[in-house]
Amino acid sequence: KSSDLDVLIVGAGAAGMMCAIEAGKRGRRVRVIDHARAPGEKIRISGGGRCNFTNLGTSGANFLSENPRFALSALKRFTQHDFLKMVERHGIAWHEKTLGQLFCDDSAKQIIRMLTDEMKAAGVTLSLGLGVTSIARSGDRFEVALDDGTRVSAASLVVATGGKSIPKMGATGWGYDVARQFDLRLTETRPALVPLTFEPTLLEQLVPLAGVAVDAVVKTTPTNPKGERLKDVSFTEAMLFTHRGLSGPSILQISSYWREGEAITVNMAPSEDVSARMLAAKTENGKQAVHTALGHIIPRRLAEVICAREGLAGKLAEVGDKKLRALDQAVNAWTVKPVGSEGYRTAEVTLGGVDTAALDQQTMEAKTVPGLFFIGEVVDVTGWLGGYNFQWAWSSGWAAGQNC
Ligand code: FAD
Repeated sequence: KSSDLDVLIVGAGAAGMMCAIEAGKRGRRVRVIDHARAPGEKIRISGGGRCNFTNLGTSGANFLSENPRFALSALKRFTQHDFLKMVERHGIAWHEKTLGQLFCDDSAKQIIRMLTDEMKAAGVTLSLGLGVTSIARSGDRFEVALDDGTRVSAASLVVATGGKSIPKMGATGWGYDVARQFDLRLTETRPALVPLTFEPTLLEQLVPLAGVAVDAVVKTTPTNPKGERLKDVSFTEAMLFTHRGLSGPSILQISSYWREGEAITVNMAPSEDVSARMLAAKTENGKQAVHTALGHIIPRRLAEVICAREGLAGKLAEVGDKKLRALDQAVNAWTVKPVGSEGYRTAEVTLGGVDTAALDQQTMEAKTVPGLFFIGEVVDVTGWLGGYNFQWAWSSGWAAGQNC
C-alpha cells in the first residue's frame, strides 16, 4: 500500500529544501527524499565552506539559458533581498566579499541549518539515504516506488536533483531521465564553471607557472546552439595558472561560454600599457634584463616564461623597440586555444538541462504533465560564478513551492 502525500520532492539540495518550506507553509503534506546521508551537501562545500549564498546584483543578465528570459519571473518574485531577509531572521552573520557576492561570516552549515529548521517548522518530512526506483502516472497522481521497497502516492512530484557536476558527491543526472520519461526535451548539457585544459606542449610551458595569479580580462566569442557566432563575452577577475591548465574566477566564468575549437584571449595586465612601460624602462635603464623590467608589470615568474617564449633573453638596450612593443600582444592579448575542461569532476555546475520551453516560468511545472515540477540546476538555467546559482535554486524552489 502506498502512503499518500501532497508533494514528493526528490533532492534535499538548495532548491528542494526551499520548495519544501514554501509548500509546507501552505499546509501541503510534503516529504523530501535524498539518496545522500545529509541534506545540502553542495551548500556545505560551497564558497570554500562559507557559501556564497546570493549576489546583491542578481539580474537576468547573469544567467545562461536557451531562453534567457525564462528565469526572470522567479528571480523577481523571490529576490536576493528576500533570501537575505531569511538569513538575517536566522541571525546568520554575513559579509559582501566582492562584486556583490554575499558569504556567511562563519560557516555554510548555518545555511543548511536555517533550511532544515524552516522545513521542520513547516511540518516537512525529510528522509535521507533514500532514492527512487520507478515513477508511474496514475490518473492525476504519481505512484513512486522508493528503493527501501515502499511506495508513495503524490499529487505533485518535484524534481530537484541538480546536475551532473561532482559525481563523487552523488550527482547522477537522474532528473534528466525523469524528463525523458515524460517526453520533455533536454538541451545539451556540459560542464561549466570549470578549469580549462591545454594540449601537452602548451601545458609544459604553463606548468612552471602553477600557483601564479593575475587579475585578468578573459574574452571569448561564444556561439549559439546553431553554431552562429555571438557577441564577445569577457570577465575581469583573477586568473590562476595550475598544474593542469588555467583556473580562477575569470576562467571559470568564461568556461560557461567557451566551446571546443574556439580560442580565449587573455589580458594579463589590463590597466597597463605594456609597450609604453617597456620602452620607458629601456630609456631609463637599458642595462636591466627584459624579464626584470616586465616583472615590474606582471608577476616575475610569468615575465620570465613570456620572455623565454618570445626569445627576449638579453638586456633592454640589446632588444629592438619593435620586439619590445610585441610584448604588448603577449601580455595584453595572449590568445590560446583550450582543448577541453576538467569536466564534471570539478565543474561547479552543469550548463543546459530540462528545456525551459517545457516549463511554466511562473510555477516551474511541466506544461504537458500537470503536477510535475523541475527546479534548480536540473533546469536549463545556469548562473555565473558569484552566488547566482544558489539564487536561482532559491527563486525557482520558491516559485514551485507556491504551486505544487
Ligand atoms: P543540488 O544542490 O545539487 O541538490 C541536489 C540534491 O539531489 C542533492 O542533495 C543530491 O544528493 C540529490 N540527488 C541527486 N540525485 C538523486 C537521486 N537520484 N535520488 C535522490 N536524491 C538525489 N553556487 C553558488 O551560488 N555559490 C557558491 O558559492 C557555489 N559554490 C559551489 C562550490 C562547489 C564545489 C560546487 C560543486 C558548486 C557550487 N555552487 C555554488 C553551485 C551550487 O552548489 C548549485 O548550483 C546548487 O547546489 C544547485 O542546487 P540544486 O538544489 O538544484 O541541486
